[in-house]
Amino acid sequence: MKSLLKTSALFTLLFLTISCNAQSERPNILLILCDDLGYGDVGFNGSADIITPQMDELAKNGIIFTSAYNAHSFCGPSRASLMTGRYSQQIGTPFNLHSNSSKIDEDNMGIPLEETFMSKVLQDAGYYTNVIGKWHLGASPKFHPNNRGYDNFYGFLGGGHNYFPEIYRKTYLKQLNAGNKNIRDYILPLEHNNKEVKETEYITDALSREAVNNIKIAKEKNEPFFMYLSYNAPHVPLEAKEDDMQVFNDIKDKDRRTYAGMVYAVDRGIGNIVKALKETGQFENTLIVFFSDNGGNMDHGASNYPLKGSKGDAWEGGYRTPMFFHWPNKLKGGQQFNHPVSALDLYPTFINIAKTKVPKNKKLSGKNIIPHLIAGTEPHKDEMLYLMRYRHGHVDVGARKGDWKITRVGNEPWRLTNITNDKGEKKNSGGKYPERLKSMTEEAHNWTKTFVKPLWYYSAKDEELWEAGRMPQYNETFEVSKLIQSASKH
Ligand code: CA
Repeated sequence: MKSLLKTSALFTLLFLTISCNAQSERPNILLILCDDLGYGDVGFNGSADIITPQMDELAKNGIIFTSAYNAHSFCGPSRASLMTGRYSQQIGTPFNLHSNSSKIDEDNMGIPLEETFMSKVLQDAGYYTNVIGKWHLGASPKFHPNNRGYDNFYGFLGGGHNYFPEIYRKTYLKQLNAGNKNIRDYILPLEHNNKEVKETEYITDALSREAVNNIKIAKEKNEPFFMYLSYNAPHVPLEAKEDDMQVFNDIKDKDRRTYAGMVYAVDRGIGNIVKALKETGQFENTLIVFFSDNGGNMDHGASNYPLKGSKGDAWEGGYRTPMFFHWPNKLKGGQQFNHPVSALDLYPTFINIAKTKVPKNKKLSGKNIIPHLIAGTEPHKDEMLYLMRYRHGHVDVGARKGDWKITRVGNEPWRLTNITNDKGEKKNSGGKYPERLKSMTEEAHNWTKTFVKPLWYYSAKDEELWEAGRMPQYNETFEVSKLIQSASKH
């Protein structure tokens, strides 16, 4: 009996050792998201005027994605897709949340709770989870980051923020003292896990500092970390530090120079983060993903070159953004990955490398891309990646499958583009390949049948049109006569 007990104790010990090793092998995951960063605004994508040496070093030693797509072309829905792994139209969140949404309607102003965030799955799997920076996924208590799987939150709940505390705080205090109950969220104090903090640093630097601190805290914990570092830069307001702007004295346009300074501040921060990862011995086994939530806003200093279009568009420049993966322990560096990938792929990819599973009924639209990165295969072979944006009276659509993309913008006819050869979307091949245009359009139309009604609208006008049946008008958007017209025209 004694020896049996001894053997069983040994087995238990062995089992514990094995499972501890398995735990320690799991990588850290650091998702660095920029806000409205243009495709052509980083060194590793060939920017002619903005330098980003820290990002470039990581990109060079990692995998650069040339066709990484967001699931939407502006902030709120794009971020909802990142966190839930689903298209916003399928979960009722295709519109941005309002400013100060915590004060408007607590019932539905946030991403539905039944959509388990990736952070919650990772938290349940033992990861130390952090979100630092912009949230924009619901500001009332039940939608708060600490209730969506984040152990630690440092940042702000709204859709953006001013950058210089010494300036915005004065306005904030003035309005507070005047009894304003609806102070714009861009100037509210930052918070740390529900507690207001008095931040004093330039916001981008503050977020980088918090990232560094938490990388050090994570090292002390006997578990891997997941960090969603959600910079609001270079989203408006365009506010850069003098030192950062001086790096770009050659840029004559003031907006562009300021924007460049803002991107450079993010780059400096990434330098500090890399240093912290190296100092704590976590660099080799951290998957760093760098991405933007949508395309650059060309009205505010950004460039999406060589892509066409701007933030909000169904053109490539609206939702195809710079991205790299860096993970020395697993992924060979010095690679470029040209197959299309989606923001929706990050959820299943992270869950997979964390060696855990999603809740039973959780639906995901993307897939784990790590095996494809290793094998060089196409993750979305024969599958469409969609962009759909509601406009008054019609829908803008971009849908890519392999080399081909169908696009409809405004009331223009449908277009078919070989997007591999024609990144700038100059040519319409719809007339040459009408059958391809027709079948892709039908597929996209069918996809709209999986949508649910929006839980909120951005404006009263949106709601009015929706209720009157004048939005979204899928039948009009996808109507066949437009296809024929476009096919015969070109
Ligand atoms: Ca954005």
